[in-house]
Amino acid sequence: MKIICIGRNYIDHAKELNNPVPTKPVFFMKPDTALIQKHNPFFYPEFSNDIHYEVELVLKVCKNGRHIEEKFANKYFNQIGIGIDLTDRDLQNNCKAKGLPWEIAKAFDNSAPLGEFLSVSDFDDLNNIDFSLKINNEIRQSGNSGDMIFSFEKVIAYISQFITLKIGDLIFTGTPVGVGPIKLEDHFEAFIEDKKLLDFNVK
Ligand code: MG
Repeated sequence: MKIICIGRNYIDHAKELNNPVPTKPVFFMKPDTALIQKHNPFFYPEFSNDIHYEVELVLKVCKNGRHIEEKFANKYFNQIGIGIDLTDRDLQNNCKAKGLPWEIAKAFDNSAPLGEFLSVSDFDDLNNIDFSLKINNEIRQSGNSGDMIFSFEKVIAYISQFITLKIGDLIFTGTPVGVGPIKLEDHFEAFIEDKKLLDFNVK
């Protein structure tokens, strides 16, 4: 499986990092070695001292497809979960300044803590899903899928023009405003609506 992540999909977040608001989805990938599941801790890596959290809704792909039309894209995912796109901001800014790819800042081991999933049928309206991140019991980020620049369907249609989607692939759909640095001993809890689906500590 592969993990595809959308960048800059919420206007207020693009602005907080001084990025232009995109006219097409921006995406990048993480390898499967980025996943942390089952409440395992995130061990702060030695190479970094500037890792930021980005809470994101995550789609799980349920059907293989390429060149998927937007109007059929909703048939290609059947679960929605929550994850954190951990980013080494320092390395990323360095790469950006030199016009280099960002992989080193995004794809490192354990850079994708992933929570439990809910069935798409659990939601009344996919364009109105609230989600949030608490760190040490304090809300740090909260978003709503209705504020995405590119909807789930648009994202799937766009990615699949370039990359075949396969069953089990994950799509991180972008983070709302409020990203910031993580610290040793932080306790992360992420929610969709009022359901806690992700819980881990930083060691
Ligand atoms: Mg992100």
